[in-house]
Amino acid sequence: MPIYEFLCKDCKERFTRLILPGREDEEEEVTCPKCGGKNTQVVPSAFSSSTSSVGGVSCAPSG
Ligand SMILES: [Zn+2]
Repeated sequence: MPIYEFLCKDCKERFTRLILPGREDEEEEVTCPKCGGKNTQVVPSAFSSSTSSVGGVSCAPSG
């Protein structure tokens, strides 16, 4: 499932968004779920150490 991670440059909120295939090229208006700002950017998939996760998702197998 193509899930992209976004970072809000306003409140530094990180969230994930499901991008439908074929619309990756289009720059959709991804708004921050926290502050509602549109100043977001795609975060390159990287293994970041989750030290403090507030209500985040854990590494669970999708079934
Ligand atoms: Zn924000």
